[in-house]
Parts: sequence; C-alpha cells; structure tokens
Amino acid sequence: MIDEIREIRSRTRREERPEDYVAVWSEYEPYKGRERSFVIVLRTHGCFWFYHSGCSMCGYFSDTNPSPVSGESLMVQVEKARKKYRGEKVVKIYNSGSFLDPREIDRETQLKIIQSFPEAERIIVETRPEFINEDTLQLFRDFRERLMIAIGLESSDENVLRKSINKGFTPSLFLERAGLARSMGFSIKTYILLKPPFLTESQAIEDSVNSAIFSSQVSDVISLNPVNVQNYTLVEKLWREGYYRPPWLWSVVEVLRRTSHLKRVVSFPTAPGSMRGAHNCRDCDDQVIRAIEDFSFTQDPGVLDNLPDCDCRRRWEKIIRYENLSFTTLGDQ
Ligand code: SF4
Ligand SMILES: [Zn+2]
Repeated sequence: MIDEIREIRSRTRREERPEDYVAVWSEYEPYKGRERSFVIVLRTHGCFWFYHSGCSMCGYFSDTNPSPVSGESLMVQVEKARKKYRGEKVVKIYNSGSFLDPREIDRETQLKIIQSFPEAERIIVETRPEFINEDTLQLFRDFRERLMIAIGLESSDENVLRKSINKGFTPSLFLERAGLARSMGFSIKTYILLKPPFLTESQAIEDSVNSAIFSSQVSDVISLNPVNVQNYTLVEKLWREGYYRPPWLWSVVEVLRRTSHLKRVVSFPTAPGSMRGAHNCRDCDDQVIRAIEDFSFTQDPGVLDNLPDCDCRRRWEKIIRYENLSFTTLGDQ
C-alpha cells in the first residue's frame, strides 16, 4: 500500500519556481485574547520524513519542491511575502517540514528569516523534536522571548505513534527536547492529532485527552488537530475504501471539555463540516464549529454547554458506547 502511495506522489509532484512561496494569509490567533496573525508557507525541499515514508495523514509534500531550495531563493520568498505584511503581532512561518532542519533551510537563512520580522511579538516555527538541541537553541537565544517552537507530537501513546501515524520518534524524545527548549526560555506549542487511523472514536478521544495532559508539562499552547483527509495519504486511501471517517465535532468538544482545566488547549479544525474534515451533520455543524472557535479564544468551558440538541449527537453517543464492541472481546462478558 505504501509503495502505491509513494508511486502516486512521485507522479503528481511538480517542481515550482523556487522564488515563489506557497501561500500567505492573515488569520486570528489566540494570543492575548484574539490577535491577527500573518501566516507564510515557504516552499522548501520539505520534511525529510516524506522521503523516508512519511506520516499516515500528511499530504504537505505537495507544497514542496523535489529539488532543494537555496537560501537565496528562500529570502526572495520572504521578501515577496513581507509586501503583504501589515504589522500583525504574531507571525507564523511554515515550511511543510522542520524549520530547524538545516537540510531544508540552512542555519544562516533560518536566522535571517527570523530577523525579517522585528515588529512581531511572537514568531511561530514548526519542527520535529530531533532538530531541537542545545547548540541550535543557543543560536536563537536572542529571540527566545519571541520565538515559539511548534512540535507535532500527535499522540503520547507509543503504539499509536508507531502503528497509526508512523511518526518516527517517541513521546520521550518530544518531552526531552521540548523541556530543553522551555528551560532555555523558548515557548512551546504542541499539536495533538485527534483520531489517527485504526482507532475507534472513543479510543481517539481517550488518546487525545491523555496526550494533552502528557504534553501540558512542557507546552504553553496545545493545539488539538482533528484529522482532515489530505490527498495521496494512507488516511485518504482508507477513507476512500470506507475504512476511515474523520472525527465527529462532538469528539472535539468532548476533548476540549475534558482538558479545559489545563487552560491552554485550543482547536481550529481544518475543513470542518466537510466530508474530509471533522464533521457532525448539516443541521448542527456551523453552531458547533463556532463554539469550538469561541472556546479556543476564551478558554471558557461555558461556551461548550449551549450546543444544539441535535439527533446526530445521539448517534455519536451510540458509536462511542458500542463501536469498540465490534472488534474486541469486551462484548462477550
Ligand atoms: S506530519 Fe510533519 S513530520 Fe510527519 S511527514 Fe508531515 S511534515 Fe513530516
Ligand atoms: Zn447534528
């Protein structure tokens, strides 16, 4: 199956102009309440893990170039993007991989990119934990109060990480490296994945609750990301064949409720209410999506109490109660 996906990926992937960034936009961010943020997606060679095997849900390789992108080209991308910058206090710099991996962005360029936004109060970059070490953090020490390092832990369960996600690192590596960065004054944002493949809806909820609690010891913000079905991924193949459904929005609400005491879990689902994203039913999707967003900005669990009494909620409750029984021995007792 993996070979088939690999073959489709290499057939569909194209070399784009290395001086062109992938995308730039502005969106609200939960920073000091509700602030506007500026988002840039840079075009690089992409995550080294794609070239190994890749995570089961990740389709970001389609935003990357098959050939390496030079530091000069990356700075042209940043200069072009800056023309659209309107002084937003939060700047998110994404590169469909690890910002701190020097094979994707050389060290000098990493520093230059961070220096390109002196007005920003918070700059967020993403990386896998193996690229966080003392030497690298020392290079960025002057920015430590403004730099937030985002890490996709996804799950604190080793089996889920290995068998459902194919993440290629362990929860203990995450804890060690995120802890190191925090001890040196950087802030940490952790991504938790809701409902990787091969988990039932209720197993997925438990997994996300546990993962949020586990990561809270080293995280300033925890972002709960319900799986969305991305092109040319294992998740997409399972979804097309009827073996996978993205999580219910009710499950997102449940995880937010059960972790609200942490006061740092947020969720901004991608493509919510669509077949490829977290969804309930047409009657209640919009209201539930709004409540999830409100909670993420306010951290007030009260906004999750006034949700519609929709029929689909009872269907979701039945799934939570009975789905596990269909393939375990629990029902035999
Ligand atoms: S999810 Fe992150 S680590 Fe996994 S393949 Fe995608 S970019 Fe790489
Ligand atoms: Zn509904």
